[in-house]
Amino acid sequence: MDPWIQHKTIWPTEAKFMSWVRGGIRAGLWKKHPVKLEFLRQNTILTVNTNPRSMKRFPMVKAARCALCSLVHSIKDIEVDHLTGNHSLRSMDDLRAFIEAMIMVTFADLQLVCKPCHKIKSYAEKQGITCEEARAEKLAISLIKEKKDVQWLEERGIVPASSQAKRRTQIIQALQEGL
Ligand SMILES: [Zn+2]
Repeated sequence: MDPWIQHKTIWPTEAKFMSWVRGGIRAGLWKKHPVKLEFLRQNTILTVNTNPRSMKRFPMVKAARCALCSLVHSIKDIEVDHLTGNHSLRSMDDLRAFIEAMIMVTFADLQLVCKPCHKIKSYAEKQGITCEEARAEKLAISLIKEKKDVQWLEERGIVPASSQAKRRTQIIQALQEGL
């Protein structure tokens, strides 16, 4: 019997069970994957520490260049992105392909990205849109959240629409037109 049926109180659904498996594989095999760690080590650079609180003690700090925005970020803001690791694990049938893609990883499958870019890339993949569209949507969402959407539109000579949803579309359109 499937575990999510036999142990309904532990995993009420198959999705919950698969999510637990996914998390376990990521934490156990991916987090400290030796190839991933070596890739990170080889692509780490030393840069001048600009943090006034620690620059005296540590004049140089570890950093890396983001493959998406091309900027150098402190190593704590850098994540390893698995280019070909986008296999889903929705049922036990996906298990082999999911684990194989993870453990057989090579340097060519990896890139270093900063945390904000990584979030945008994941969002774009999930929504089936481009990174530029995702960047525009994310900015629109955060402007609305911070209640700066009306001001943002006015500053660009756009008359803000009456509803939040419409203003969101206006912002996305403005960004796409390069305003
Ligand atoms: Zn970036």
